[in-house]
Amino acid sequence: EESAPAGEMPTYIVGTEAQFPPFEIVDSKGNVVGFDVDLLNAIAEDQGFKVQYLDQDFAGLIPALQTGNIDIIASGMTITEEREGEVDFSEPYITAGLALAVPINNEEIQSVDDLKGKTVAVQTGSTGFMKAEELKEAGVIAKIKDFPHVNEAIEELKIGGADAMINDLPVTEAFIAAQPGVIKIVGEPLNSESYGFAVRTGNTELLQKINAGLENVKASGEYDELLTNLPKY
Ligand code: GLN
Repeated sequence: EESAPAGEMPTYIVGTEAQFPPFEIVDSKGNVVGFDVDLLNAIAEDQGFKVQYLDQDFAGLIPALQTGNIDIIASGMTITEEREGEVDFSEPYITAGLALAVPINNEEIQSVDDLKGKTVAVQTGSTGFMKAEELKEAGVIAKIKDFPHVNEAIEELKIGGADAMINDLPVTEAFIAAQPGVIKIVGEPLNSESYGFAVRTGNTELLQKINAGLENVKASGEYDELLTNLPKY
């Protein structure tokens, strides 16, 4: 007897914004790779489902999930109270947090305390964007410039269109490692955040699979292996 064809396994469409290394990035062959992808692939294998990645802007991911264009979000998405009202999150799979970055030669801005009257670049719809809005409402930041992708926010810093950027620390570190000498991280991380995979509200069947797979992949040691073999960007 032949084993069941793979086609009998359910395939879930995974939305991701693949310009967010080391969590997701498009490699030289055009494939979406990264920690989120490796982890979700391992979970899918463990739980007997297939995944297909769809690269799209971060701000459109939750709407795409809600309308059914995608089934899962795997995009370094922070679990927030606000988003909990729009999607269901898996158990957290990694901890990150926001960091402040400035052009390499800027000596004036050492921390959030130095952002008075400044222009800050962020990614549209991100927690960095939300933090910047908070700081603007508090009368600290003067102006927010938001971009669909982090590299565009970095570009804005480079050309002097913004004084600072707020973005996820590991991602800013990955960009700096790939392109040293352009920007630098200043001060302490602004907070601590946990990433989760998201499914449509009430899709408990899929959520349980993801959570069970995550537990197994952690218990088997595969999770730790993936973490130590992050893709080079
Ligand atoms: N972790 C941040 C958020 O959830 C940024 C995610 C991203 O840009 N992919 O808003």
